[in-house]
Amino acid sequence: MKSAIFIVSTIAFIVGISVFFSLFTKKSTPKEIIQHPDSRLHEVSTSVKKIDLETQKIASELKHVIEQVDRRGRIGLGMAAPQIGYSTRIIAIKKSFGNYEIMINPEVNEKKWFFPSLSKCFSVDGIHFLKRYYWYSVSYQDLNGNKHHEIMRGARAITLQQEIDHLDGILINDY
Ligand SMILES: [Zn+2]
Repeated sequence: MKSAIFIVSTIAFIVGISVFFSLFTKKSTPKEIIQHPDSRLHEVSTSVKKIDLETQKIASELKHVIEQVDRRGRIGLGMAAPQIGYSTRIIAIKKSFGNYEIMINPEVNEKKWFFPSLSKCFSVDGIHFLKRYYWYSVSYQDLNGNKHHEIMRGARAITLQQEIDHLDGILINDY
């Protein structure tokens, strides 16, 4: 009898813990990534004038969402603030798993080597065939307000282009 009570209470405990964690995980999962044809994806985002708590909040949400996407096995190379509901010029580009670079007010200085590529976007269904540039020179600010210049090539360059397009309200199926 005692062992039956022990087994039942153990099962109840395990079920309780799992329910608690599933609810908890549900609450902490990122908000849904906005999907085409939501009109918010076609808005032109405004520049960040001052890097403040709101900027920090958006940046950490972006990192969180892209990390969740990565954890689910969908390779997330980058994400832009409009995809999570903020019409502001902030993007995240993956450096490595768990390490995402936040770029505020990214500006393209120079681009070269146009080539055909395949693109995927978390806001648009399917794979799209586009012509992209292989090489980019980009300027941006980090979360401390420091200015950076960077050269991006290949997959990172294609990602950068897609994320900057998001800030201008352009999707991969608009081409
Ligand atoms: Zn995209």
